[in-house]
Amino acid sequence: KRRPLIAGNWKMNGLKIAGARTLGQVIEGYDAALRAKADLLVCPPAPLLYTFAAASIGSGVAIGAQTCHPAASGACTGEISAEMLADAGASAVIVGHSERRSYNGETDADVRARAEAARRAGLTPIVCVGETREERDAGRALDVVGAQLAGSVPDGEGALIVAYEPVWAIGTGLTPTVADVAEVHAFMRAELRKRFGAAFADGVRLLYGGSVKPANAAELMAVEDVDGALVGGASLVAADFLAIAAGC
Ligand code: 13P
Repeated sequence: KRRPLIAGNWKMNGLKIAGARTLGQVIEGYDAALRAKADLLVCPPAPLLYTFAAASIGSGVAIGAQTCHPAASGACTGEISAEMLADAGASAVIVGHSERRSYNGETDADVRARAEAARRAGLTPIVCVGETREERDAGRALDVVGAQLAGSVPDGEGALIVAYEPVWAIGTGLTPTVADVAEVHAFMRAELRKRFGAAFADGVRLLYGGSVKPANAAELMAVEDVDGALVGGASLVAADFLAIAAGC
């Protein structure tokens, strides 16, 4: 009942020539068989958004951004609003990625404000949550994820995707066990049901992110309540990104 989404977070990688080539390969590889399996979203750095959105028209591949400012416009040098992302052709935006929470000091309230801005602009927010290694080792993974969900997900039954990305699994080649992923995703579904009711919560796509590769995608995507993946490094290689989608 939830169509899988494979989202590529390019992070701070990608220049116009090579990036366009990679996007072109993704579009070309998104054939009828893959379309039957999953939605695809590519989130390049902001300077590439407009040309990527233009190049992807009619392809079925959606384009997203990696963060947004809470305000629509104003004296915020260097910032980009959700309205600007929508104007450039984005349909979704990642908010609260752990790299932004740690390097840019974003709190749950900051993330929530960005998610609200995304909705205001007609974008789907992809709200990221996830525990650190220390938190998991201390048995606190569910507490941390629950608190981040409560604080970062806006009220109201608007557009929403949630990504569970254990910080220790990002860019490390490490992944949680299938049982651990299943536990966290079932917990997130239950928390969303408690807050919003099943009718809304059961329609929210819950992505897993952290060292998703072609070799482990099928096993992770088969987990109950895993509705797709948020892919970092492997999304930079079209063949790998497509192979991950084929694992749905
Ligand atoms: P990797 O797939 O490179 O581990 O990155 C995951 C991630 O942070 C996606 O947002």
